[in-house]
Order: sequence, then structure tokens, then C-alpha cells
Amino acid sequence: MSEIGKNLVVISGPSGCGKDTVVKAILKKDERFVLSVSATTRSKRPYEVDGVDYIFLSTQEFIGKISKGDFLEHTMYCNNYYGTLKSQIEEKISNGKVVILVIEVEGAANVKKVYPDALTIFVAPPSLEELERRLRERNTEDDGTIKQRLFKANEELGFQSSYDYIVENNYVDQCSQSIIDIFDGKK
Ligand code: 5GP
Repeated sequence: MSEIGKNLVVISGPSGCGKDTVVKAILKKDERFVLSVSATTRSKRPYEVDGVDYIFLSTQEFIGKISKGDFLEHTMYCNNYYGTLKSQIEEKISNGKVVILVIEVEGAANVKKVYPDALTIFVAPPSLEELERRLRERNTEDDGTIKQRLFKANEELGFQSSYDYIVENNYVDQCSQSIIDIFDGKK
């Protein structure tokens, strides 16, 4: 097994399924895990912090990093670039940590190609209706973007079966614990 692959946990799930909250709960419960901070060209939401939630880049800066080969994977999602920086992963794993990547389905498939022993987990919403309710309640996107994200969510749900595990997010505490247990081989 590659040292990197066995220390990678890739988590996907449609926008609004609560995966960010689940990942925060994992990080709080268990200090073995750290988050890979992705780069993106999406504009920053008011509560987000540059370098913590994302590394916010201009399109030109992002394309520059693509051509330098800085990304393990990158993709275009709802008209913005998102990518995992190799440096994020290599540095954290060499410090003895298990790195969680919260990325969409195409990126997850690309990571699995490079590191077949990475653990991939799909966080599923209880239903599409619940997903729409959560997205609207979050109130961070306009109606057009919500519709685009719901369309994308439907598409993403079709990829669930290509993940090692599917975990339904009904309760954050349960869902986060299930992911830790899966990592530890208890499930
Ligand atoms: P959001 O704009 O809601 O923060 O993220 C949109 C989607 O992009 C989410 O599904 C999120 O998991 C995904 N994403 C975030 N960072 C990356 C990344 O580095 N690579 C890929 N492929 N997807 C990412």
C-alpha cells in the first residue's frame, strides 16, 4: 500500500448534504485527521476565511498552477475551478496525519486512479427534498445557483455506487462516527 493512499480519506456528497459539518465533527473528535485545503476560483462566502476554508485564487493564478503541475486533481464545478494541491497532501502526510479531501465526484475518481488504496466515502442526503430544504435554509446562493446545484446533486447521486462506502447523513454525530469507524476498519 502506498504511504499516501492509505492516509487519504476522500469524502464527496451533493452540495447541501452536510458533508462540511460532518467533516468538522470528525476533525473535532479525532486529531489524527486534518483537512486538505482546496484551491478555488469561486468567490468567498462572508463567513469563509482565505487559507482555512479554501485558498481563493484568480482564474489566472489557478491556470498557472495547473500548468506547473501543482494539482493532484482539479475540475470545473458550476463555472468555477476547484483543485487539490499536491503540497497540501504531501506535507500533512509526512507529518503523520490522515488527510481528508472533501471534493466532488470527478475529483474523487481521479484521486482513486492515482491512489487506489485511498478510502472513498459518499455522504448521501436523506432525500432530494431534504437537500433542497437545507440548501435554501443555508441561504448562501441565489435561486439560479441553487437550481444548478440541485441539478448537479441529482447527477452526483448517480455516482454513489463507485465509492467504497455510502453513509447517510441523518445525524452529524452518527455520520461522523461511522466514517471514523470505517477508517478504523470496524465496519
Ligand atoms: P462549494 O462551492 O460548495 O464550497 O463546493 C462545490 C463542490 O466542489 C463541492 O462538492 C466540494 O466538495 C467540491 N470541491 C471542493 N474542493 C474541491 C477540490 O479541490 N477538487 C474537487 N474536485 N472538488 C472540490
